[in-house]
Amino acid sequence: MTDFDDEWAVETLAVRAGQVRTGENEHSEPIFTTSSYVFANAAEAAARFKGESPGNIYSRFTNPTVRTFEQRLAAMEGGQCCVATASGMSAILSTCMGLLQQGDHIVSSRSIFGTTVVLFDKYLSRAGIETSYVPLTDLEAWQQAIRPNTRLLFLETPSNPLTEVADIQALADLAHANDCLLVVDNCFCTPVLQQPFKLGADIVIHSATKYIDGQGRCIGGAVVGDNKLVGEEVFGFLRSGGPSLSPFNAWVFLKGLETLNVRMKAHSDNAQELAEYLQQHAKVTRVFYPGLTDHPQHELASRQQIGYGGVLAFEVAGGQEAAWKLIDRTRLLSITANLGDAKSTITHPATTTHGRLSDEQRAESGITPGLVRIAVGLENVGDIIADLERGLV
Ligand SMILES: *Cc1c(COP(=O)(O)O)cnc(C)c1O
Repeated sequence: MTDFDDEWAVETLAVRAGQVRTGENEHSEPIFTTSSYVFANAAEAAARFKGESPGNIYSRFTNPTVRTFEQRLAAMEGGQCCVATASGMSAILSTCMGLLQQGDHIVSSRSIFGTTVVLFDKYLSRAGIETSYVPLTDLEAWQQAIRPNTRLLFLETPSNPLTEVADIQALADLAHANDCLLVVDNCFCTPVLQQPFKLGADIVIHSATKYIDGQGRCIGGAVVGDNKLVGEEVFGFLRSGGPSLSPFNAWVFLKGLETLNVRMKAHSDNAQELAEYLQQHAKVTRVFYPGLTDHPQHELASRQQIGYGGVLAFEVAGGQEAAWKLIDRTRLLSITANLGDAKSTITHPATTTHGRLSDEQRAESGITPGLVRIAVGLENVGDIIADLERGLV
């Protein structure tokens, strides 16, 4: 066990939690690139394999650098236990494989990461696990979708790209009244802006690829929860299924966590200023950002989050043609679907991230032809605005 104080603030835990110094007394965390570990004798090896003595066995499921990352993220989220995974998708897969069985049912927000929908509908369905989708903010629809075999409620908040905000506490209460677990994909806020366990969530999932890395370098993920659900069930799947995080990537994420607090605040400040600029622009018909006072869940977001995050969307007058023109005239922003990077990115959801949907599904989800999403980075916001101004004509 490492030496840290649960009472520390999240930014202190982000810098300090989880580190165990070796005999070399290194100041920064080392990267343990070893697949296996040596035992003192045959009896110790036997005890480790039986789980009777703690310690490293094999890096598919025990690695000191990965463990430091797990402990730090668990401490920041306020969870007992964390299992790091090779990607955000394998964090979701490991959660489902660890906690569900044939015949179980998931109720999910319909506004979730597109690949998560593919995982649920194409692959989990093969194992006899069915998913129903509901509008994120419609509590009654969640309630009505729950069946006797429902085990998980699954959501992301704020949603991508329209930044709708779910009432985590209300959905946690609904889940628990029906013997279900609430799983929150906390990728957009990170524990710096939102701590779902304080609002009753049971499992928190991360794509560390996004803000935890923060500079678009590595793929990774994590599942946080209690010692039984995550420490035994999800860990058990990781040990046998093997979607393990590499120690190098864990080290990059550790460095990312150390600056996460200041970065999330800077992303939020830039996004707020950009949202306010767009809101008064004659060529922009609508702006979606929880920090705007006319956002439908502005008050909920102010209560539930510590900041409003780095992602916003807006509709330009003139539909797809105007949206594409705006995107193509940028020189600073990167045309890519990734987010959570120091570099601002600009996307046309209707023809990229949401291109697989039918026209009706897109209309139902509010993904209009003129919609543009920006994941606001850490450049000077005046330069970001100037880059957009050229295309907003
Ligand atoms: C990117 C993303 C994922 C998937 O994460 P990967 O690391 O790309 O596998 C899951 N959920 C959300 C909200 C994401 O943005």
